[in-house]
This record gives sequence, structure tokens and C-alpha cells, in this order.
Amino acid sequence: FDVLICGGTGCKSSGSKEIQRQLEYELAARGMLDKVHVVQTGCHGFCENGPLMIIYPGQFFYCRVKPDDAGEIVESHLCNGRPVERLLYYDPVDGKPALTAADVSFYKKQKRIVLEHCGRIDPEKIEEYIAVGGYAALVKALTEMTQDKVIEEVIDSGLRGRGGAGFPTGKKWSFAKNAESDKKYIICNADEGDPGAFMDRSVLEGDPHRVLEGMAIAAYAIGADEGYIYVRAEYPLAVQRLKIAIQQAEERGFLGKNIFGSGKDIMLHIKEGAGAFVCGEETALIASIEGRRGMPRPRPPFPANEGLWGKPTNNNNVETYANVAQIINKGAAWYRHFGTAESPGTKVFALTGKINHTGLAEVPMGITMREIIYDIGGGILDGKKFKAVQIGGPSGACLPEELLDLPVTYDSLTEVGAMMGSGGLVVMDETTCMVDVAKFFINFTQSESCGQCTPCREGTKRMLEILTRITEGGGSESDLELLEILARNIKQASLCGLGQTAPNPVLSTIKYFRDEYEAHIKEKH
Ligand code: SF4
Repeated sequence: FDVLICGGTGCKSSGSKEIQRQLEYELAARGMLDKVHVVQTGCHGFCENGPLMIIYPGQFFYCRVKPDDAGEIVESHLCNGRPVERLLYYDPVDGKPALTAADVSFYKKQKRIVLEHCGRIDPEKIEEYIAVGGYAALVKALTEMTQDKVIEEVIDSGLRGRGGAGFPTGKKWSFAKNAESDKKYIICNADEGDPGAFMDRSVLEGDPHRVLEGMAIAAYAIGADEGYIYVRAEYPLAVQRLKIAIQQAEERGFLGKNIFGSGKDIMLHIKEGAGAFVCGEETALIASIEGRRGMPRPRPPFPANEGLWGKPTNNNNVETYANVAQIINKGAAWYRHFGTAESPGTKVFALTGKINHTGLAEVPMGITMREIIYDIGGGILDGKKFKAVQIGGPSGACLPEELLDLPVTYDSLTEVGAMMGSGGLVVMDETTCMVDVAKFFINFTQSESCGQCTPCREGTKRMLEILTRITEGGGSESDLELLEILARNIKQASLCGLGQTAPNPVLSTIKYFRDEYEAHIKEKH
């Protein structure tokens, strides 16, 4: 038997480590430790039902397991072949137990490319990553492909930056490759700061080697020999697993000096960020790595020409790098089978808020919001009505029910005033006040503004004051107009993406839920 126990942060915090200890104790008591392979994996995604356990053969899917269940699992399932029915997942739609993970509605519409190994392998053992084909893409790139060929393959795949606006990844690599310099850097942005977002954390915790392999391939493609993973210090498990993974990869010759005798060095380091949201902006992130205050600077020069310590630098998000190995292994055409022509591949979303299945879901681009929320997310909590979904975090927008059938792509979201962002999806039900939601996000961005430019620093503060006035019953009709004028100016005149997108939640709620603002204003009269 193989027993996979989720060791992601969510399941760990609800006791999965204790479950593993208890299971091993029960196995040892029966002299079965050598017959059962117990593995602590990364996140399975279905966090709301954790701690999760999957038992092979059969792919039996156990939910909400407790340490006290270990004895029954060993005795009934592992000794006598009788699955423990009460621990199986019961589908809320038909009330029937899902006998295997494949029967769980949460997974049926997902396509797991980035999360392929999360929940399947032990992230602390490089042998398990290698056993599922890990590092084959790096070897292929180094031994069979020129730098240009690697970049061409990534361009052809249509991979776009998964951290925000969706800039074509291969094109970005070509800028850094073509920059003349004796030294170049590679950066992985794991400074995930959106409220409700935990995609990067789960990928780093569940499959850190995949990110390292993607970075190493990118480093080879652009001609970099050194790089940094900028990861939040609030992600201790991700940091710990990254450290283990880097050490193992160096011992095996996948990272470090003269990898595979190729004469190429790829040294990767971890830089822990102190939790400033603005450090997700690449020039602020670079300043922070250099030991300076994390403040954005005007561009040009772009980091591809003058980045870390003034040298050409390529910066991508965790999810972007996590796509690279499979593109090199299976080819651009394979990757383009998923998603849409303009937004190929998949996107990982963190489902949170008033939704039955909170967790992590990877879906093909082009899927509708309705499918994500109802078919994967299991619909709205307590049978309430859907009201809105916030996509893209503080830079994104609140979308109403009329847009539930919108295909989720970079371009379709931009057309309705939203953006993909990093992939946080916060679902709201009929009881949510949308003015409060707008106020929450503006409060977040104004406190995270680095303060160096006036429209963002002062403008978001004034917007927050107006929103507070409206929600406290002191608003007037002219406040809505004032909010819109401020929003337009902040978007146009701010230096970096934080300020340029900060008004989006306010603008989208005024656009789609204006009646709620008006109701607050009328309340006072
Ligand atoms: Fe700083 Fe805001 Fe200006 Fe960006 S827009 S540089 S966060 S003040």
C-alpha cells in the first residue's frame, strides 16, 4: 500500500503530522511498517476537507481524518481490505460517497499541469521528483537544445506570465538573452501578497523541484548563472522545503557549479521578504534583494536590461516557472492543447470566501467562472445566493452574476475591467455588502502603498475616507462622482502597478453594484 497524507500548510495545521505519526505507530504495532509506504505530500488542493489521505491501490480518498482514525484505517483497510466508509468524501449533490479521488467533483473539471505532482510525491525527496520524470527537461535543454531553441519553444507554447498581466514569457526571456552583459540574474517572484491567495505557497511546498527546474532552464536560456527566489518569510514551510530542494539539487548536479559537466553554473539562493505587498512589483522586489527599501522605480530601464545590481535580469512568478519543464519535455504544441488560442494552458486559483469547497484548483483557461464556482467549488455556502466574485486580489475587480459565464482568459477579464492577477478568487454571497468589500481592498492598498508618489499615497487615502463616510451614513450623491474622478486620476498618474490598479475594486463595484452605494447614501436621509 501507498498512503499519501497531505502535508500542505492547511492540512498540517489541522494535524496531518500527528496522523502520520499515529499511523506509523499502528503499523509498527502490527509489524507492517515495511509493507506500507507512508508519504507526506504537498497540498492536494481540497483544503476545506482536510486533513486528506489517499490510499493506493484504489485511490481511496479519505477526508477530515483525525489521529484517532489511524487504528481503524490500518485494521480495516490495510489489514482486511475494507475501506473505512465514514471517512470517504460524500458528494453534497447526490449524498453518495466518492470511492476514489477521481469521483470527487472538485477534481473532475480540473487539469493539473502545475499541480501535477502536488499531493503525489514527497516534496522533500528529490528521488521521488526524479522518479516522475523530474529534471529530464533540464537535461534535455542543456544537452539537446540551444538557448534560442529553448526560448523559441516557450514562445511557441504561448505561456504568459502567471503573476499578473500575462506578458508572454518567451518574449521576456528573449529580452534578457539579447542584453549584452558579463553577468545576468534570474529571479522567482514568490512574494504572494493578495488576500486569499496561496497558489505560490502550495506549489513551493508541494513540488519545489519543479520550480527550481523551471528556473534552471530559464537561467540557461538567458545566460544567467545566478538567481534568487524571493519568498515571503510568512511561508516557513515553503522556505524550509526550498532549502532542502536546493541542497538536494546541488548534490545531484542539477544546480551549482559546472552542472553536468556543461561548464555552466546555476547558483540559486533564497531571499525572504518581510511581507510588503509592493515588493511583488519587480523593481521593488529587486531593490529589496539588494538590501534597499522595497520601492518601485520608473521603467525604462527595464530589468531585462538593468535589473538586479544593474545587470540583465529575468523575473517570473512561481507558477510560470512551474510550467516550463513540461513545455520543454512535451513541446509547445502539447501545451497549446489546453486553454484558448490567446491564453494557452492552465491557471491555478485559490478558492476562498462563501464557497463550499475552499481550496486550490487548477483549470484550463477558457473555463467559465460558473464552472469554477459551482462545479469545482461546490456552490455557495449554506445554499445562499451568489452575489459576486473578486478576481485578481486588490488589483482586480468584483464581477457580478451576469458575468458568471464569461470564459476566464487574460483578455476577457481585461475587457470587463478585471484582471487575472495572481489567481485569488474570493466568492461573496447575497449577505455581502459590496461597498464594504471595496472599502476593504482600498484600505489594504492604501496601507501597502510605498508612499513615494502622491496620487497613490494621497488618492487611495481620500478614497478610503469617502468610502468610510458612505458606509457610516454620511455620504452624498457627489461622493460617487468624486470616487470615479479620483480613481481615474490614480490609475493614470501612479508610478507602479499597485497604484495603477488600486481603484479597480471600487470602479467595478460602482459599475456593477451602484444600487448598493446609492442605498447607503439614501439611508441617512
Ligand atoms: Fe509606491 Fe503607490 Fe507610487 Fe507604486 S503607485 S510607487 S506603491 S506610491
